[in-house]
Amino acid sequence: MVKQPKINRKPILRSCIACRRNASKQQLVRITRGTDGILSCDPSGRKPGRGAYVCANPACFDLIERKRRLGNALKCEVTLADYQRLRAEFNAVCEVLPHANGTALSADALSADVKD
Ligand SMILES: [Zn+2]
Repeated sequence: MVKQPKINRKPILRSCIACRRNASKQQLVRITRGTDGILSCDPSGRKPGRGAYVCANPACFDLIERKRRLGNALKCEVTLADYQRLRAEFNAVCEVLPHANGTALSADALSADVKD
């Protein structure tokens, strides 16, 4: 039996539903559909329910809204009003994240990653 040392743990990676890049959970904003069916941003990452991850980058949010990715990811209908409400929440979450000042992703890296 091999003991897993607690240090050297790999960060948990999730992929952004907009640009599909893998990033640690700290660089992503989780959007959940709660057990009550209400969609919300979940900066704690602890809310129950199905979740989808988006880079803490407004460009990625633009993409999921334009391509309507959220409904697919969360297996529910997402209305325009939902997107507008989530965008406001998303922007608020991005403002308080320490990595959200443009260093997480450059626009160039983002467009290079998008393959549609
Ligand atoms: Zn992204």
